[in-house]
Amino acid sequence: MAAYDFETHEYDVVVVGAGGSGLRATLGMAEQGLRTACVTKVFPTRSHTVAAQGGIAASLGNMGPDNWQWHMYDTVKGSDWLGDTDAMEYLAREAPKAVYELEHYGVPFSRTEEGRIYQRPFGGHTTEFGEGPPVQRTCAAADRTGHAMLHTLYGQSLKNNAEFFIEYFAIDLVMSEDGACQGVVCWNLDNGTMHAFNAKMTVLATGGYGRAYFSATSAHTCTGDGGGMAARAGLPLQDMEFVQFHPTGIYGSGCLITEGARGEGGYLTNSEGERFMERYAPTYKDLASRDVVSRCMTMEIREGRGVGAEGDHIHLHLNHLPPETLAERLPGISESARIFAGVEVTREPIPVLPTVHYNMGGIPTNYWGEALNPVEWNPDAVVPGLMAVGEAGCASVHGANRLGSNSLIDLVVFGRAAAIRAGQVVKADEPNPDLNIASVDRAFDRFDGLRNASGEVPTADLRLEMQKTMQSDAAVFRTNRTLDEGCKRMKTIAGKMDDLSVTDRSLVWNSDLMETLELANLMPNAITTVVSAEARRESRGAHAHEDYPDRDDTNWRRHTLAWVDGHATVRLDYRPVHTDPLTPLEEGGIDPGRIAPKARVY
Ligand SMILES: Cc1cc2nc3c(=O)[nH]c(=O)nc-3n(C[C@H](O)[C@H](O)[C@H](O)COP(=O)(O)OP(=O)(O)OC[C@H]3O[C@@H](n4cnc5c(N)ncnc54)[C@H](O)[C@@H]3O)c2cc1C
Repeated sequence: MAAYDFETHEYDVVVVGAGGSGLRATLGMAEQGLRTACVTKVFPTRSHTVAAQGGIAASLGNMGPDNWQWHMYDTVKGSDWLGDTDAMEYLAREAPKAVYELEHYGVPFSRTEEGRIYQRPFGGHTTEFGEGPPVQRTCAAADRTGHAMLHTLYGQSLKNNAEFFIEYFAIDLVMSEDGACQGVVCWNLDNGTMHAFNAKMTVLATGGYGRAYFSATSAHTCTGDGGGMAARAGLPLQDMEFVQFHPTGIYGSGCLITEGARGEGGYLTNSEGERFMERYAPTYKDLASRDVVSRCMTMEIREGRGVGAEGDHIHLHLNHLPPETLAERLPGISESARIFAGVEVTREPIPVLPTVHYNMGGIPTNYWGEALNPVEWNPDAVVPGLMAVGEAGCASVHGANRLGSNSLIDLVVFGRAAAIRAGQVVKADEPNPDLNIASVDRAFDRFDGLRNASGEVPTADLRLEMQKTMQSDAAVFRTNRTLDEGCKRMKTIAGKMDDLSVTDRSLVWNSDLMETLELANLMPNAITTVVSAEARRESRGAHAHEDYPDRDDTNWRRHTLAWVDGHATVRLDYRPVHTDPLTPLEEGGIDPGRIAPKARVY
């Protein structure tokens, strides 16, 4: 007998999450006539994708020469040769199609004089396989690209009869005894009722886990719920050590200033007024890739050239740009700078600091979005009935470091790919198998345990302790000492999950309980991040290890897999990186010599 009464809903597909990836998947499923439900804890257009400012990368070539091979090369190099080559090819090749689809669905892209989609430069995006000048590849709707995408995709999904369950919180996956996913158990936040979604395919599109850190650009809702659910279902998380710090979070609030600001001509200075990026990255300067710029800023601050009374941040200048450009291309960030830094961008520089921004790691998938549970004899074994897309997944196209504007394109390319694949594997005319009630019961029991938690530690206190530990011990620069300490401290902190105290026992809009469920999801994401980082004895992309400053392709060009047992025990294993492109050279593919590993300089 389950701890709660619940209503069962039957669908072909249930998508958990209504950000860019969840909505694109939902739309693609519904367009094919699959009975599709989309469950989301916030109203769709409030998902974190709404905050994406800068834009979406695709080699349309509207502003000058460009092609998918150059985009692919930049993505491979950006990933520091950890991305899966097949997935990166798929991303770069499908990107233009996916953007034109968005245009036809109604996304109001900014335009050139001739009426084509406007594109701006972004860090790490170049021409001629990294040998030519920066390319203008990032399509944008002013600095509100994510906002425009969500509104368009939500409208289109409704038009295609997808059904939305809004302010429903997904608690746990329902797994069959033989390891297939059968759906998800949810709590309706608004009226306290419980629901089980029985679906032939479940798609996790729950976004990143930026809130495992103290200072992050991501919304408070970015709590890695999909990763938490997968970990509890006994599935691995991949490449969790790779956490991207965005160079320009506003000092203090962490609020993002898009890289588009540097794309439009903004630049960074230290306390001596020096444009220091010219020294570190002579070719691409302020438009080197994000991990590189974040490290250079941290180095300037450490060497005593930070700005401000404490010498602990850096200046971003836009004040030399024409006010019309700022008003037309960057209106949102002018407002953010005014509100969060008290700065008028037309006159003064913005105080900025590298801030946690994106999680390269997540639920491992192939380039169709199918979740993987690698076994000894098959590193690419698929979990039947489960997909993951967007920031929750790890396809892996971003490898050790994501290029700016490559996430929005990842959302739509892989949201779309998941729908195409579901169209092939979901048998719409067959009945749904019965849910495994033992699995449903386990979800409710866990929920009930947290609802009635009567230990000593309030959720907010434990969350803060976790966030501060992650911020200090798994930061831009890492050492054996900080990582070792981080592992020990996170083990103790995760252990305290059994001593939580929840004071509100109600089922209706109980934010105390919801935040506790979110903390229970953040915790496995956080602990796998620091344990995976401790184990990786090299520097690659966002993982800058001072005791091992070089990339080590012989031993470490491989994906980390991390399983969590209980709250605090992590087991690691590895799986090979896919190094072969999808298309052979003879059939128009990229020359493998072009993408062979080499030193990464900008
Ligand atoms: C400030 C900011 C600016 C950015 N700018 C850019 C940019 O210009 N270009 C770019 O390429 N990338 C950008 N990024 C990165 C990119 O926006 C994100 O990686 C991307 O939007 C994530 O989309 P998503 O679909 O994976 O998830 P999200 O948009 O985060 O949505 C997650 C969804 O999951 C739902 N959900 C989560 N948990 C549950 C649960 N337990 N139950 C039910 N529902 C749940 C939420 O309700 C939500 O609908 C930016 C990120 C930030 C933070």
